[in-house]
Amino acid sequence: MSVLSVSAEFFPPRDIPARERLLRAAKALMGSGIEFISVTFGAGGSTQKGTVQTVESLQRLGFEVVPHLSCIGTHQQELLDLLDHYKALGVRRLVVLRGDIPSGMGAFDGPMRYARDLVLFIREHYGDHFHLYVAAYPEMHPEAETFAEDLEHYVHKANAGADAGITQYFFNAAAYEDFLERSARKGAQIPVIPGIMPITNAKQILRFSKMCGADVPRWIRLRLQDFGDDRRSIRDFGIDVATKLCAELIDLGAPGFHFYALNQAEATLAVMRNLNLTEQRSKESALI
Ligand code: FAD
Repeated sequence: MSVLSVSAEFFPPRDIPARERLLRAAKALMGSGIEFISVTFGAGGSTQKGTVQTVESLQRLGFEVVPHLSCIGTHQQELLDLLDHYKALGVRRLVVLRGDIPSGMGAFDGPMRYARDLVLFIREHYGDHFHLYVAAYPEMHPEAETFAEDLEHYVHKANAGADAGITQYFFNAAAYEDFLERSARKGAQIPVIPGIMPITNAKQILRFSKMCGADVPRWIRLRLQDFGDDRRSIRDFGIDVATKLCAELIDLGAPGFHFYALNQAEATLAVMRNLNLTEQRSKESALI
């Protein structure tokens, strides 16, 4: 089996205790074989400054850090300043997004309306300096009118100069397989890394899934209902579901996994251990 690339996604902490929790989680991931930690941008009301500070803190721990960057509502000069700063920090990869339209913003007709525009902008100003990941939606982006149009937009974005896709999380391996087949048939050649969300909190997963359009299968909802407030059982169940999903995705040829770790290490590490990914990646490092 070829070596899979594994990454984890964190978000900027809101206060000092949250920052300490984030650093503890990052330290727990050290030596696990995680290739990089990505840091979200402007998500959930976090500030751009928060993203930069988190990128710098994680870099100081020795991680490769991959900042997310979104174009909606961000001025071009701000983007250039940020990109220059990241370049100076030694950042080599970015997750490039449109971002969620802030409530009350209404229609947006700035020069960069879609993630594809930001991919083109970065390629125009920085050439091939950055490796660019873009978002992929095996179960369709929630704002899209049709699945076919959404796929068309993804293919244009991929072919505008992206290097790889990272998916929104999903629980149905068949959706990933279908997305791979259809996007390849439409001409997208880039690898697509599945985004994995180990369930650790029932209310949170249902809330997130409603917002991002991820389908939580009925059997998972029913199991979560049965667990009630038993957080330990929910966490163990979440790890089991994510492990089985990853095993199916490996069989489908997934090039790696991007864990929506939500500033925690435990569930990600448990899934990696179950799949022998920690060991596999450590062996690879030893060979270099
Ligand atoms: P786009 O690819 O631009 O697509 C957005 C919508 O526009 C889609 O419905 C698409 O079909 C449509 N569209 C695209 N091109 C066209 C066109 N030419 N004409 C008409 N319609 C078009 N959000 C954050 O705020 N911060 C983050 O850090 C963050 N990180 C994320 C990481 C990953 C891996 C993923 C999967 C999502 C992330 N998000 C983040 C959420 C993301 O910003 C939202 O889903 C957002 O609504 C869309 O961003 P996008 O880059 O997918 O947009």
